[in-house]
Amino acid sequence: MKNMDSVVCTFCGCLCDDIKVSSKDDGTIEIKGACANGKGHMEEYDPSPVSPAFRGEPVSWDKAIGEAASILKNARSPLFYGLSSTASEAQRKCVALGDRIGAVIDTTSSVCHGPTGIAMQTFGEPTCSLGEAMNRADFLLFWGCNPMIAHSRHFTRYSLMPKGRFVPEGRKGRRAVLVDVRETPSAKAVDRFLRVKQGCDYEVLSALRALVQGKSMEAAEVGGISREELVSLAEEMKGCRYGVAFFGMGLTMTSGKDLNVGQYFNLVRDLNAHTRFSVIAMRGHGNVAGADAVLTWQTGYPFAVSLAGGVPVYGPGEFTAVDMLARHEADAALIVASDPKAHFPAEAVAWLDAIPHIVVDPAFPLTARGATVYLPGAQYGVDAEGTYYRMDGVPVRTRAFRERHRPTDEEIFDRLLEEVSR
Ligand code: SF4
Repeated sequence: MKNMDSVVCTFCGCLCDDIKVSSKDDGTIEIKGACANGKGHMEEYDPSPVSPAFRGEPVSWDKAIGEAASILKNARSPLFYGLSSTASEAQRKCVALGDRIGAVIDTTSSVCHGPTGIAMQTFGEPTCSLGEAMNRADFLLFWGCNPMIAHSRHFTRYSLMPKGRFVPEGRKGRRAVLVDVRETPSAKAVDRFLRVKQGCDYEVLSALRALVQGKSMEAAEVGGISREELVSLAEEMKGCRYGVAFFGMGLTMTSGKDLNVGQYFNLVRDLNAHTRFSVIAMRGHGNVAGADAVLTWQTGYPFAVSLAGGVPVYGPGEFTAVDMLARHEADAALIVASDPKAHFPAEAVAWLDAIPHIVVDPAFPLTARGATVYLPGAQYGVDAEGTYYRMDGVPVRTRAFRERHRPTDEEIFDRLLEEVSR
């Protein structure tokens, strides 16, 4: 039996790096320390070699790469989408490929934290690391997120429960408030739950900003939350020693979107006139933060970037994958480590099915069904090593604990780049 400690789970943006893996002599593995999502992700992946496919039939890698390159070379308006569950080394090569053929590149951020990127660039993000939250935070605000389900170890490892350097009592040394439209399982773990009316986050955040700035409030309630509750929340936030505000898609994907997030950032900025406060986005997929980081360092923008004209052009709403597909503006697609057919609106999925599309994914997601070319790479964090960015933007080096028999996504993009350059 071979044991490995400090293995990184690459399933969600927590990137827990304390997983223990035991590989037994009969080839099975045992995962300890991961949540159910992480355990399934690490145990269920079979690293055996898998043939790529062309029109549903197994073919050689040379044939598959040749067909994929020919689709990309012949496209007038190629769309690249996804990138959230692959390593940054592969993301970098994928952007280079898109640059070579003049593609539009969009990440899964366009359907989750894209508005966070827009707010970041508009207002600035007063942020900190998860380590700071763990070691310093005596007050935690969660808004429009459900860590108990979506980031199962966030509470225990980074925010609510752990003992930190300046919070030696752990849970007893922290106060936590959740604001959401419904009472999720996370509401039971915090000290106070405030129910906001659907679509009223911006109004509630504006009222809180006014209160934090010392203004009085005449309305008896805002967005379903009473004046007394809002006043006491504002006072509690101002009075803490170190606060961290986390937020999820309940803020980014409801009406107001980037304006909600901007107001949240501004609330945190206002609080810094009274105490120390920071904000962290609850990023979902393992390396979606890396996808945004790589695209930003390569092009200046985090998602929805067109490289068609030889220079990067930013266009949320114009170069976002859902919009391009629904308007029939893409004539070929490269889908990387994501599953748009499982999540996109029907008209976008119908057009994706109508155009030649290539899928690069270690698993066989719904999107791979009907793909013109399927290229199954290795799974970073299981049989390949690479860099992932945690939800707080900290890069983490993932480790491989199984023998690799498949090419990495980085190697696949290298081959595609070589082929389209011929
Ligand atoms: Fe993996 Fe996320 Fe669970 Fe941590 S919380 S073990 S990173 S799925």
